[in-house]
Amino acid sequence: MGVVIKQLGMLLIISGPSGTGKGTLVRKLMDSDPSFAFSCSVTTRAARPGEIDGVHYHFIDDAEYDRMLVEDAFLEHATVHGHRYGTPKKQVDTLLKSGKNVLLDIDPQGALSLMCRLKDYVSVFILPPSFSALRVRLHTRNTDDPVEIERRLRNARLEVLNIARYQYAVINDDLDLAFSQLQSIVNAEKQRTTRFIPTIMED
Ligand code: 5GP
Repeated sequence: MGVVIKQLGMLLIISGPSGTGKGTLVRKLMDSDPSFAFSCSVTTRAARPGEIDGVHYHFIDDAEYDRMLVEDAFLEHATVHGHRYGTPKKQVDTLLKSGKNVLLDIDPQGALSLMCRLKDYVSVFILPPSFSALRVRLHTRNTDDPVEIERRLRNARLEVLNIARYQYAVINDDLDLAFSQLQSIVNAEKQRTTRFIPTIMED
């Protein structure tokens, strides 16, 4: 007799306030762990220099986004800092069924909505070391004007209040330390018994 073990993929939700460096942590995880597939969201915002359609996002217009809403094509969706973003349901389902782990990099509104509806997920909230550090980061990355930065900081204060809704939290002060903490979470979660489906085969 032999045992065949099928492993089920995990849905990893990484979220947190704007400017905490979650994008960098997500990239490092994708670069280092081939068991993960990145869920490429759709967005109505314009591509930034260097961003590739179908890799970073599917860049779509409002009409296409509305069509997807009507067709109930989103696992979750949210308007973030004035632009619309959504996670395509079909893509995530297909990847999970194929045994891949799927990584979602989504904002806290989208994360909370998923955590209310789904049972099987792993959620990680990325925190800045402090609000003053977050302010400095938002200024130094130089992508937003001062009014927008203050808006993001106000949002961050509210978003942090929901931290207990997530299963894990990582403070991103030292990037290497934060990444190793994220890897520890992921590695432990991969070994959950619920992800293993053993089948005993007759010889
Ligand atoms: P950016 O436009 O800077 O790439 O992303 C802005 C914010 O939108 C980030 O917090 C990012 O995590 C979030 N985001 C990206 N894709 C999605 C998505 O499909 N759904 C939700 N709710 N947020 C998303």
